[in-house]
Amino acid sequence: MRILITGAAGFLGSHLCDQLLGDGHEVIGMDNFVTGSPDNIAHLANNEKFSFYKRDVSNYIFVPGKVDAILHFASPASPNPLSKSGYFNLPIQTMKAGALGTHNCLGLARTQDARFLLASTSEIYGDPEVHPQVETYAGNVDPVGTRAVYDEAKRFAESLTMAYHRFHNVNTRIVRIFNTYGPRMDLEDGRALPNLLKQALLGQPLTVYGDGGQTRSFCFVNDLVDGIVKLLYSDEHFPVNIGNPIEMTILQFAETINKITGNKAGITYIDDARSARDPQRRQPDITRAHDILNWVPKVDLEEGIRRTIPFFKQKLGIA
Ligand code: UDP
Repeated sequence: MRILITGAAGFLGSHLCDQLLGDGHEVIGMDNFVTGSPDNIAHLANNEKFSFYKRDVSNYIFVPGKVDAILHFASPASPNPLSKSGYFNLPIQTMKAGALGTHNCLGLARTQDARFLLASTSEIYGDPEVHPQVETYAGNVDPVGTRAVYDEAKRFAESLTMAYHRFHNVNTRIVRIFNTYGPRMDLEDGRALPNLLKQALLGQPLTVYGDGGQTRSFCFVNDLVDGIVKLLYSDEHFPVNIGNPIEMTILQFAETINKITGNKAGITYIDDARSARDPQRRQPDITRAHDILNWVPKVDLEEGIRRTIPFFKQKLGIA
């Protein structure tokens, strides 16, 4: 296939480029570098099967030649208000990438008779009242909350995707991505793993927000990409959760990072770094991914963190 990936220079987009090129496809990357980095795709510069367009997907997009599939991964994605690249500080771009960007990609998919895969998110469940989160749960999102620019844009994007599927018969997929980590994360984006692993490698105390009792479930990027590619190759049109179902508190997560890195600086608790809308629990129910795609994650947290450390050390310039 000839596959367009928006957000190709981002953390997930760049890993998808690698995986799909590895599967023998031709890949067209698109990114405007608002949150993505040219470094993430620099290794593809001489790959004959890779081409790249610097574009903002919220404007009309055009790609010469036939396109067989479009994966829409362009969006700011970090919720941390302290980060310049988080959606808190890019609110309008975030809504435009999720809403207008999805519309443009669906329009292109329709004219090209291409399949379309939307990168959606566990954030569509908001601060969930159903646990673990199953795809049939409709979520608990505040439309005027500080996370709304991301959550509601992705909810709109899911609705638009289903509308194009039902009304225009576009061959669509929706993946709901849960917390993911690995090499090529932006060390400055303020999310839990970049913040905590960077602090640990620098011998600093890890900043745990609140009492650290809130939970997340962390998936290694290679597992996630494997699930997304399986979904792309499947015929499933309804949303599928992809994420690691092993739930832990953020305090346990921080302690694991300190243990693996041998960091003796401990933990510091920070009260007001996040909005009151920080979801208290998050864990994917991956029954559908298992049954439909025969997918389960394989990399455990310790191994995943060990595989992430060399990239962080390189970025931090430490041996
Ligand atoms: N978190 C933290 N310390 C940090 C960064 C994040 O305790 O330095 C917490 C954050 O409050 C949240 C969890 O880690 O409860 C995951 O945050 P992240 O920004 O990775 O994404 P989210 O899962 O909230 O979308």
